[in-house]
Amino acid sequence: MTSPALARVEKGQLCTGCGLCAAIAANVEMRMVAPGYLRPQATGPVTPDEDRAIAAACPALVVDEGDRPRPPIDDAIWGPSYFTGTGFSTDAALRHQASSGGVLSGLLVHALASGLVDFVVQTGADPYLPTANLTHATANRDEVFAAAGSRYAPSAPLAQLEEWLARPGRFAFVGKPCDVTALRARARHDPRIDAKVPLMLAFFCAGIPSSAGTGRILKRLGVEPQDLAGFRYRGDGWPGFATATRHDGTAERMSYADSWGDILSKEVQFRCKICPDAIGNVADIACADAWYGDERGYPSFEEQDGRSLVIARTPVGAALLKEAVAAGRIEKAPLDIREIDKMQPAQARRKRQILSRLAAMAVAGRPVPRYRGLQLWAAAAQDKPLAQAKSFAGLLRRLMQGRA
Ligand SMILES: Cc1cc2nc3c(=O)[nH]c(=O)nc-3n(C[C@H](O)[C@H](O)[C@H](O)COP(=O)(O)OP(=O)(O)OC[C@H]3O[C@@H](n4cnc5c(N)ncnc54)[C@H](O)[C@@H]3O)c2cc1C
Ligand code: SF4
Ligand code: SF4
Repeated sequence: MTSPALARVEKGQLCTGCGLCAAIAANVEMRMVAPGYLRPQATGPVTPDEDRAIAAACPALVVDEGDRPRPPIDDAIWGPSYFTGTGFSTDAALRHQASSGGVLSGLLVHALASGLVDFVVQTGADPYLPTANLTHATANRDEVFAAAGSRYAPSAPLAQLEEWLARPGRFAFVGKPCDVTALRARARHDPRIDAKVPLMLAFFCAGIPSSAGTGRILKRLGVEPQDLAGFRYRGDGWPGFATATRHDGTAERMSYADSWGDILSKEVQFRCKICPDAIGNVADIACADAWYGDERGYPSFEEQDGRSLVIARTPVGAALLKEAVAAGRIEKAPLDIREIDKMQPAQARRKRQILSRLAAMAVAGRPVPRYRGLQLWAAAAQDKPLAQAKSFAGLLRRLMQGRA
């Protein structure tokens, strides 16, 4: 039979591209589809049990954070926090290589060195197609270093979940918030996950652009895809440049404001526009850029030493952060949670407008995902009615015109 769950996802264009369904169902695999998103494709029948398992954990259909423990600070916009602050990796090369302050990578290095985990499942550049991503296992500082940095291109890190679960040892998982949501949801039905994955890390996520977006960057840089030896989206500085390096060693680069602001942000998949948890609420630790930007969220400086925003969201995350600081791998300083309003205005706006966007989808007759335990009403109450009305009308119009 075909999968009713996957059919509903496809009808609503709700897929995040996490890859979990491909790990659950023997006859589903992730493939690149136009204009460059990773999507599940059935290669044969999906059993009723597999369909039920997908329906229970697929983040396109359900994001249910209703049963997570609530710490003393559980902000309607910024979620649960045992510690909120800024920080950076004390490994200066790693800090420079990483996306912002290298806190995610620094924590991973510590988790490996301390024996908390035996390997890390993370996503870096595909050596055979440098603009694309490859999820792989890393096991030491140099391998974590090589995978550091943000990759603004599709990744399906859960597609090989069975392979990672079958490997000896415990592992840390790093992914987009929706990947972590999917993994936590799957853990409710698969006890191997809690036993094998003691650490889940996420970054704040504005959305995944299509690979066509990267193609537009290459075109503007005047670099032919076949000449490409390496491609980074940012990092190697803060915010760093999108950099295309040719086989002959020459390189072209573009600022973050131009690559993300002018090109990639316009290629983001639909599901990201209604993402209720793009800030890693159910990760042990979520990191982001700790910069003060303009209204569009771009940094108000040229280049600086990187600084990450760090939110420890669980006791496990808070303990790891404390240990990594004590071991001298991370430096951190506390931050008032309201400061994040100024650092991440686009994330705050999206959270406040989720309900109005879901309402527009319902009116347009589109399948609507089930969101629970995300404080969406409290977030919506922080917006002016006019802003909500504009958000509702804007999405409804785009849906009716087939432009969403
Ligand atoms: C698509 C995308 C959207 C983002 N949107 C925002 C945003 O709205 N606001 C914000 O502040 N920050 C955003 N970031 C994150 C930000 O760029 C930094 O990753 C964050 O500040 C943490 O920095 P760091 O130096 O601690 O991370 P690093 O030490 O550089 O580690 C980054 C980690 O992320 C993993 N990773 C990178 N790209 C992917 C990917 N595509 N899929 C799965 N894993 C990946 C790497 O394997 C690595 O472990 C986004 C990143 C991505 C990839
Ligand atoms: S969101 Fe993930 S689990 Fe759901 S259909 Fe897409 S790839 Fe599969
Ligand atoms: S915005 Fe949300 S749905 Fe889109 S990639 Fe990021 S976490 Fe996933």
